[in-house]
Amino acid sequence: TPAIEIEKLGKVYTRGKEEVTAIQEISLKIPEGKFVSIVGPSGCGKSTFLHIVGGFIPKSSGKVRIRGKEVDKPGPDRGMMFQESALFPWKNVFDNVAWGLEIQGMEKSKRDEVVEHYLKLVNLWDFRKNLPSELSGGMKQRISLARVLAFNPDVLLMDEPFGALDAQTREKMQVELQRIWQESNKSVMFVTHDIDEAVFLSDIVVVFSGRPAVVKEIIEIDFQRP
Ligand code: ADP
Ligand code: ADP
Repeated sequence: TPAIEIEKLGKVYTRGKEEVTAIQEISLKIPEGKFVSIVGPSGCGKSTFLHIVGGFIPKSSGKVRIRGKEVDKPGPDRGMMFQESALFPWKNVFDNVAWGLEIQGMEKSKRDEVVEHYLKLVNLWDFRKNLPSELSGGMKQRISLARVLAFNPDVLLMDEPFGALDAQTREKMQVELQRIWQESNKSVMFVTHDIDEAVFLSDIVVVFSGRPAVVKEIIEIDFQRP
């Protein structure tokens, strides 16, 4: 069973009387454990596509299956990370990561263990008592990454997670993400307009083009990683 299976997915937005087809019959099968990037020019429908896979916006036609199960709402099988980190400003780093686990009903001793594991994985354990406002943009995205990984979703969806960072921080985050991904071995769908970023990170690059979006090309990146 593929981790993600998209069948003839379509999306039409209604803008007053006007209809805008953002996505037209996209089909894709993503095997388990792969890092897949969706690339294409701004406005071509990448974000719409990812939000539909996440269940955040309704599709107009087609199907989305996660590990064989059809989905049309958000669920614990998918974790999403956005360009802006959306952390609770009044909670410290530790509590930001712990919050969702608490809501899930995980008991405190287990929760503390999970939070510690993921904060160490993203190298932020020493900052656990800090507030998000005391940290840099890259660090905030690492907290978001720890938070989403702590949920243990089957599939990680990332919508330009480094898009708001300066070039130098972005490069560091790409290296960090690659290391973390290799340790966690999750299926990832990563949206970016930066082809270099996509090639650096991915096993598979899916190129979207046009308006409405169609799949133009699927490129398997086949080189030996360090
Ligand atoms: P990107 O950063 O991918 O270029 P956009 O600027 O296209 O994003 O859009 C940002 C968000 O604004 C989208 O996720 C979408 O929800 C919303 N949006 C984009 N275009 C429109 C539009 N024409 N009408 C209403 N909302 C829009
Ligand atoms: P990308 O992520 O590739 O920049 P988007 O998915 O944000 O592309 O947008 C794809 C197309 O859909 C664009 O033409 C955009 O203007 C339109 N769009 C996005 N969100 C909305 C919305 N909420 N209402 C109407 N049109 C939208």
